[in-house]
Amino acid sequence: MKNIVIFGAPGSGKGTQSDKMIAQYGFGHISTGDVLRGEIKNGTELGKTAKGYIDQGQLIPDELMIDILASVYDGFGKEHEGVIFDGFPRTIPQAEALKKMLAKRGHKVAAMIELDVPEEELMKRLVLRGQQSGRTDDNEETIKKRLNVYHSQTSPLIKWYGKEGIHYHIDGFGELDRIFGDIRHVIDHL
Ligand code: AMP
Repeated sequence: MKNIVIFGAPGSGKGTQSDKMIAQYGFGHISTGDVLRGEIKNGTELGKTAKGYIDQGQLIPDELMIDILASVYDGFGKEHEGVIFDGFPRTIPQAEALKKMLAKRGHKVAAMIELDVPEEELMKRLVLRGQQSGRTDDNEETIKKRLNVYHSQTSPLIKWYGKEGIHYHIDGFGELDRIFGDIRHVIDHL
């Protein structure tokens, strides 16, 4: 079983490459952003809480995210090829909680795959996505806040997973198939 954290700034291609991994390996997929957008759509209490943070480009509090993640993970049952964590963890406490949550179940993260994309390119992709997807947080002002949050709260995880010995850096700027080839290379050698 291979649990993979797909990691990178907003707009780095985590969702796109997750789709390719699901098709290739039959992994389960947890996108915490998608989970939260689903809650907002369904008008739940959690959705109402989440919307305030998302529209401000801020992170949802760790305790809340950690509870959500454990319940979604358990929904996959015991017999799976592995799960892709997309958009989680985003803080060091989330990474620590993920490690603990998986260990309790006799599981672990096998690799943290970082998609590295230059800032200008991220901005371009997110503005374009905003025009197509209608995501309320893909406007220039909120994108800037999200990138700041990424640099201050999320990017320290690169070092954290480096210390765990499972950080893999991938150049996320270029041909989609080349990027996916690099990802496959990592996964196939785990
Ligand atoms: P994403 O679709 O991954 O870009 O997530 C969209 C937004 O959902 C983020 O900007 C956060 O407000 C919120 N969010 C998603 N995942 C997390 C997480 N792991 N921790 C805190 N907030 C999150």
